[in-house]
Amino acid sequence: MPYINTAPSLEEAVIDSIKEHRRNVGRRFYSEHGTDRVTAGQLTNVGGATVEVLALVKFAKKVRYGQDDERTVQAGASAKCHGWGCVEPSSDESFGTEFDLDADVYEVAATAEPFVQAAREWAQAHAEKCRAQPHTGR
Ligand SMILES: [Zn+2]
Repeated sequence: MPYINTAPSLEEAVIDSIKEHRRNVGRRFYSEHGTDRVTAGQLTNVGGATVEVLALVKFAKKVRYGQDDERTVQAGASAKCHGWGCVEPSSDESFGTEFDLDADVYEVAATAEPFVQAAREWAQAHAEKCRAQPHTGR
């Protein structure tokens, strides 16, 4: 039987990103703010360059005086064209509801879906018309 390489589950990748962040919170040299990018698809444009769909997981910490700090997480998506000289190399980054970092990971991951779908549509439309070639060599 041939081995079919299936794409990894996007939901699991987003959940792993949240769990990883939770594990590292409070450690030295670990940033409380930042956005993880998980590849959610790759397309090829007319020029042969890759257009990448990314699920985004954004972490933040809000300092509230006299209270505990508030840590949050948001899921979203964007698309990025790697074509050399592309006129519009990325879509906007869009995010869903802001959750408490301790929120249910499945619930947070589910909010990425409509944004990933929109990013896939942007990537598909972009790939059909973009003629920027991949950067090769120097
Ligand atoms: Zn492009």
